Amino acid sequence: MNNKVIGLLAVALLILLISSEVRAQTQPETVTEAGAIFPKGRRAPTSNFTGTVWVQPLIEPDSAVNIPVGYVTFEPGARSYWHHHPGGQVLLALGGIGYYQEQGKPVQILRKGDAVKCPPNIPHWHGASPTNEFRQLAITPNTTTGRVTWLQPVTDKEYNNVKQ
Ligand code: MN
Repeated sequence: MNNKVIGLLAVALLILLISSEVRAQTQPETVTEAGAIFPKGRRAPTSNFTGTVWVQPLIEPDSAVNIPVGYVTFEPGARSYWHHHPGGQVLLALGGIGYYQEQGKPVQILRKGDAVKCPPNIPHWHGASPTNEFRQLAITPNTTTGRVTWLQPVTDKEYNNVKQ
């Protein structure tokens, strides 16, 4: 092989190494997004959430199918304020590690595949664990009397009162 060919091979090898390195670095993010199925959406208003939360509306309710469905991503440590739903709510855990708590009950840990039914008008909150994000579908039926009533923030003491 002459020097020109060796030079080209060296450049090709370098490009291969760099591209696989870039792939390795970006893979965790790619896996998260691919595993998420739905687009992450927009940042939720900070008025009703602690930390960073993303919401993608999937189904907008109308008179024929009055069931809004949203895809929600809580970054680690993020959670909703206390709130209740006049028509109740169903949460489907898609990934990560989440927390769910109804007033007067212990915090439940949610993992991919868990399903939760929140009864109407029962104060509760949901969010991510401190070290892992949490991805959920929120299905909020019977919205004729409203979707949600927001209450006070979840304190750090409440948030950290988790029995593993
Ligand atoms: Mn809720």
